[in-house]
Amino acid sequence: MNKKTIRREFLSSAGAMFAGGSALTTAAVAASGQTPGTRGAGRADHGRLQEAGARQAKLVEVLRQPVLKKELFRSPVIIQSVELLRWQNSYLCRVRSADGGEGISVAHSGMDRLYPIFLQNLQPFFLGKDARELDLILDKVYVYDFNFRYNGISLGLPLATIEFAILDLLGRMAGRSLGKLIGEIHNPEVAVYVATEWRERPLEETVERIKKAVGEYDAKALKIKVGYLMFMTTDMHAKGPVGKTERLIPLLREIFGSDMALYADANGYYDVNEAIRVGKLLEENKYAYFEEPVMYDDFEAIKQVADALTLPIANGEQDHSYVNFRWLIANDGIEIVQPDSYYFGGLIRSVKVGRMAAAFGKSIVPHMSGGGLGFLYNSHLVSVLPNAGAHHEFKGLQTDVPFECKTSPLKVVGGKIKVPTGPGLGVDIDPEYIRKHRPVTA
Ligand SMILES: [Mg+2]
Repeated sequence: MNKKTIRREFLSSAGAMFAGGSALTTAAVAASGQTPGTRGAGRADHGRLQEAGARQAKLVEVLRQPVLKKELFRSPVIIQSVELLRWQNSYLCRVRSADGGEGISVAHSGMDRLYPIFLQNLQPFFLGKDARELDLILDKVYVYDFNFRYNGISLGLPLATIEFAILDLLGRMAGRSLGKLIGEIHNPEVAVYVATEWRERPLEETVERIKKAVGEYDAKALKIKVGYLMFMTTDMHAKGPVGKTERLIPLLREIFGSDMALYADANGYYDVNEAIRVGKLLEENKYAYFEEPVMYDDFEAIKQVADALTLPIANGEQDHSYVNFRWLIANDGIEIVQPDSYYFGGLIRSVKVGRMAAAFGKSIVPHMSGGGLGFLYNSHLVSVLPNAGAHHEFKGLQTDVPFECKTSPLKVVGGKIKVPTGPGLGVDIDPEYIRKHRPVTA
């Protein structure tokens, strides 16, 4: 759906939704980015404020809709223990219920830095709660102990680890996959794109590495890095191979031909003017979207870039707040939302972002962090997203976690991976491997 259609659809329902209450007026002002009274109160301004306010109000309502299918469980599922287990660099979370249920999740490698937040800020809140109230728990845990002060990956990553284990527990109890606990299965298979890096490498080397990465998998889509964000060095004066991006963009189209879906990611490197310049080059070469063209939290800048290009803008892997997504969606700053299920605090919260996007005809391509079993959690998430994009992030299937999956070969076949359908996560982690792990205490 294009922006004009979305706008028409909105206008037809705006009158009914915009009741004109003071809260909504506040939302309208917030959505417009204006301070009340700073501009002439002309009819056009008023109309724009009404429109923005109604769009925000629609998204607030979307966020209120439940995600977990609690009706699957007749009696309370009391969370008796939430343990963080460690062996070498590996962290697992084990949740047990009072009636003997058990769920396991595999943490992201970032847990190595964040385990005190797991133990001190999150674990106590979950004990004794009814897991059927998971939607509410995930809202209220942000208030507990002023946890919102830690908002971001610091809170999201350990929170997601606990959520994944609780969903695994519930899925095993109900005999349902993670996806079937939080939605309907729209994508039993997930089409993948090959995610590549190497922005610091010279052009020729980058091209060779990209060709090799694409050759390893039967994928029909590729994402490349553009710009020169030098995150990998402490050298404040480091510069990337300047001029490479401008040559790489058309070269890859030439190499892979018109059938390959190409995506580009700047990781927030550019300013508005540069992002528009590179965006036009991407448009000329038929790239399908431009991810994080400018710094992720500079919403006005993101919107300026979006307004200047026909190329869809994607953003959200660093975002930690529904409000951020809400603003960008309501103001047509982005066409593709990209929450990361680990960073953003789990599958349920990510589904809600997807629903907000769907409310205005936009799509979702969740960011997937590498390592652990990230690709599995991401696959379950994508499986339930009716507005999922065409291809999804894939950084290989390498993992140190030994497991068995009876319902999927977990291989890229024809550019797609079949999502496991067994209970919970749908894989059985080697019990010997789990036994090596010991509880972490503060
Ligand atoms: Mg990215």
